[in-house]
Amino acid sequence: MAKLYYRYGTMQSNKSNQIITTHHQYTTQGKRCLAYSSRVDTRSGYKMIKSRIGLELMCEYITDNIYDEVHKTHMEEEVHAIVVDEAQFLSKNDVMRLSDIADYLDIPVICFGLKTDFRNQLFEGSRTLLELSDAVDELKTICQYCNKKATLNMRLLDDRPVNVGESILIGDEEYVPVCRKCYKERLELV
Ligand SMILES: [Zn+2]
Repeated sequence: MAKLYYRYGTMQSNKSNQIITTHHQYTTQGKRCLAYSSRVDTRSGYKMIKSRIGLELMCEYITDNIYDEVHKTHMEEEVHAIVVDEAQFLSKNDVMRLSDIADYLDIPVICFGLKTDFRNQLFEGSRTLLELSDAVDELKTICQYCNKKATLNMRLLDDRPVNVGESILIGDEEYVPVCRKCYKERLELV
Protein backbone atom coordinates (compact mmCIF):
# COMPACT_ATOMS: atom_id res chain seq x y z
CA MET A 1 0.00 0.00 0.00
CA ALA A 2 1.19 3.51 -0.78
CA LYS A 3 2.49 5.68 2.03
CA LEU A 4 1.99 9.23 3.22
CA TYR A 5 5.38 10.83 3.91
CA TYR A 6 6.32 13.98 5.80
CA ARG A 7 9.77 15.44 5.23
CA TYR A 8 10.15 18.43 7.48
CA GLY A 9 12.94 20.86 8.17
CA THR A 10 13.65 24.41 9.27
CA MET A 11 14.00 27.37 6.97
CA GLN A 12 16.93 26.94 4.55
CA SER A 13 16.89 23.15 4.91
CA ASN A 14 16.77 22.61 1.18
CA LYS A 15 13.10 21.58 1.03
CA SER A 16 12.24 23.12 -2.33
CA ASN A 17 15.36 21.67 -3.91
CA GLN A 18 14.48 18.22 -2.56
CA ILE A 19 10.91 18.37 -3.79
CA ILE A 20 12.04 19.39 -7.29
CA THR A 21 14.67 16.62 -7.27
CA THR A 22 12.11 14.02 -6.17
CA HIS A 23 9.76 15.12 -8.96
CA HIS A 24 12.64 14.96 -11.44
CA GLN A 25 13.54 11.40 -10.39
CA TYR A 26 10.03 10.19 -11.19
CA THR A 27 9.73 12.01 -14.50
CA THR A 28 13.15 10.93 -15.80
CA GLN A 29 11.97 7.34 -15.30
CA GLY A 30 8.89 8.08 -17.38
CA LYS A 31 6.67 8.10 -14.30
CA ARG A 32 3.99 10.67 -13.71
CA CYS A 33 4.43 12.82 -10.60
CA LEU A 34 1.98 15.61 -9.77
CA ALA A 35 3.36 18.68 -7.94
CA TYR A 36 1.26 20.71 -5.52
CA SER A 37 1.72 23.55 -3.07
CA SER A 38 -0.50 24.73 -0.26
CA ARG A 39 -2.81 27.46 -1.47
CA VAL A 40 -1.41 29.98 1.01
CA ASP A 41 2.00 30.12 -0.60
CA THR A 42 2.41 32.39 -3.61
CA ARG A 43 5.81 33.85 -2.73
CA SER A 44 7.59 31.81 -5.41
CA GLY A 45 5.27 33.22 -8.05
CA TYR A 46 1.91 31.93 -9.22
CA LYS A 47 1.82 28.11 -9.29
CA MET A 48 5.58 27.80 -8.99
CA ILE A 49 7.96 26.02 -6.63
CA LYS A 50 11.41 27.65 -6.62
CA SER A 51 14.56 26.55 -4.85
CA ARG A 52 17.36 28.77 -3.56
CA ILE A 53 19.78 27.36 -6.09
CA GLY A 54 17.55 28.35 -8.99
CA LEU A 55 15.50 25.23 -9.78
CA GLU A 56 11.85 25.76 -10.68
CA LEU A 57 8.82 23.51 -10.94
CA MET A 58 5.29 24.34 -12.03
CA CYS A 59 2.65 23.17 -9.55
CA GLU A 60 -1.05 23.28 -8.77
CA TYR A 61 -2.61 24.41 -5.51
CA ILE A 62 -4.30 22.02 -3.11
CA THR A 63 -8.07 22.57 -3.07
CA ASP A 64 -10.92 20.95 -1.16
CA ASN A 65 -11.43 18.72 -4.23
CA ILE A 66 -7.90 17.35 -4.23
CA TYR A 67 -9.02 13.73 -3.89
CA ASP A 68 -11.52 13.91 -6.78
CA GLU A 69 -9.06 15.82 -8.98
CA VAL A 70 -6.30 13.27 -8.48
CA HIS A 71 -8.74 10.38 -8.87
CA LYS A 72 -9.93 11.74 -12.24
CA THR A 73 -6.38 12.40 -13.46
CA HIS A 74 -5.28 8.94 -12.32
CA MET A 75 -8.15 7.29 -14.23
CA GLU A 76 -7.10 9.10 -17.41
CA GLU A 77 -3.41 8.26 -17.03
CA GLU A 78 -1.66 6.55 -14.15
CA VAL A 79 -0.17 8.83 -11.49
CA HIS A 80 2.89 7.35 -9.75
CA ALA A 81 3.46 9.91 -7.00
CA ILE A 82 2.38 13.27 -5.60
CA VAL A 83 4.70 15.84 -4.04
CA VAL A 84 3.40 18.70 -1.88
CA ASP A 85 5.37 21.83 -0.98
CA GLU A 86 4.79 24.16 2.00
CA ALA A 87 2.75 21.42 3.66
CA GLN A 88 2.76 23.20 7.03
CA PHE A 89 0.02 25.47 5.66
CA LEU A 90 -2.35 22.60 4.83
CA SER A 91 -5.53 22.25 6.87
CA LYS A 92 -6.32 19.10 8.81
CA ASN A 93 -8.88 18.28 6.12
CA ASP A 94 -6.33 18.69 3.34
CA VAL A 95 -4.04 16.20 5.06
CA MET A 96 -6.95 13.77 5.51
CA ARG A 97 -7.71 13.96 1.76
CA LEU A 98 -4.02 13.40 0.95
CA SER A 99 -3.99 10.33 3.20
CA ASP A 100 -7.08 9.07 1.31
CA ILE A 101 -5.08 9.35 -1.93
CA ALA A 102 -2.41 7.07 -0.45
CA ASP A 103 -4.97 4.66 1.05
CA TYR A 104 -7.61 4.39 -1.67
CA LEU A 105 -5.81 5.35 -4.88
CA ASP A 106 -2.56 3.66 -3.81
CA ILE A 107 -0.45 6.67 -4.84
CA PRO A 108 2.46 7.73 -2.58
CA VAL A 109 2.08 11.29 -1.28
CA ILE A 110 5.33 13.02 -0.25
CA CYS A 111 4.84 16.24 1.72
CA PHE A 112 7.57 18.78 2.49
CA GLY A 113 7.31 21.59 5.01
CA LEU A 114 8.25 23.23 8.28
CA LYS A 115 7.51 21.61 11.63
CA THR A 116 7.03 24.68 13.82
CA ASP A 117 6.58 28.43 13.45
CA PHE A 118 8.86 31.09 14.96
CA ARG A 119 6.99 30.83 18.27
CA ASN A 120 8.03 27.18 18.23
CA GLN A 121 4.46 25.92 17.86
CA LEU A 122 3.33 23.24 15.42
CA PHE A 123 1.45 24.39 12.32
CA GLU A 124 -1.92 22.67 11.76
CA GLY A 125 -0.63 20.91 8.64
CA SER A 126 2.57 19.80 10.36
CA ARG A 127 0.74 18.50 13.42
CA THR A 128 -1.68 16.45 11.32
CA LEU A 129 1.11 15.12 9.12
CA LEU A 130 3.16 14.11 12.18
CA GLU A 131 0.07 12.32 13.51
CA LEU A 132 -0.92 10.55 10.29
CA SER A 133 2.18 9.97 8.17
CA ASP A 134 3.59 6.49 7.66
CA ALA A 135 7.12 7.87 7.46
CA VAL A 136 8.61 11.07 8.86
CA ASP A 137 12.07 12.34 7.91
CA GLU A 138 13.98 15.37 9.07
CA LEU A 139 15.87 17.50 6.52
CA LYS A 140 18.85 18.89 8.36
CA THR A 141 20.62 22.22 8.30
CA ILE A 142 23.00 24.16 10.53
CA CYS A 143 22.25 26.86 13.11
CA GLN A 144 22.82 30.40 11.85
CA TYR A 145 24.88 31.29 14.94
CA CYS A 146 26.81 28.13 15.90
CA ASN A 147 27.69 24.75 14.38
CA LYS A 148 24.90 22.68 15.91
CA LYS A 149 21.97 21.31 13.96
CA ALA A 150 19.16 23.85 13.57
CA THR A 151 15.82 22.64 14.88
CA LEU A 152 13.86 25.90 15.25
CA ASN A 153 13.00 28.95 13.14
CA MET A 154 13.72 32.40 14.50
CA ARG A 155 12.00 35.48 13.15
CA LEU A 156 14.06 38.62 12.77
CA LEU A 157 12.43 42.03 12.72
CA ASP A 158 14.93 44.78 11.90
CA ASP A 159 17.63 42.22 12.75
CA ARG A 160 16.19 41.66 16.21
CA PRO A 161 14.78 38.24 17.20
CA VAL A 162 11.04 38.22 18.02
CA ASN A 163 8.67 35.45 19.07
CA VAL A 164 5.34 37.24 18.91
CA GLY A 165 3.04 38.05 15.98
CA GLU A 166 1.05 36.15 13.36
CA SER A 167 2.01 32.52 12.78
CA ILE A 168 1.72 32.60 9.01
CA LEU A 169 4.13 35.06 7.50
CA ILE A 170 5.47 34.29 4.08
CA GLY A 171 8.88 35.33 2.80
CA ASP A 172 11.77 33.78 4.64
CA GLU A 173 14.36 36.56 4.40
CA GLU A 174 13.48 37.50 7.92
CA TYR A 175 13.65 33.95 9.29
CA VAL A 176 16.78 32.05 10.23
CA PRO A 177 17.33 28.42 11.27
CA VAL A 178 18.69 28.14 14.80
CA CYS A 179 19.47 25.50 17.43
CA ARG A 180 17.41 25.48 20.62
CA LYS A 181 20.20 26.96 22.73
CA CYS A 182 20.74 29.92 20.41
CA TYR A 183 16.96 30.40 20.16
CA LYS A 184 16.69 30.71 23.94
CA GLU A 185 19.76 32.91 24.28
CA ARG A 186 18.95 35.27 21.40
CA LEU A 187 15.38 35.70 22.60
CA GLU A 188 16.69 36.13 26.13
CA LEU A 189 14.46 33.35 27.39
CA VAL A 190 17.15 32.25 29.83
ZN1 LIG B 1 23.12 27.58 17.69
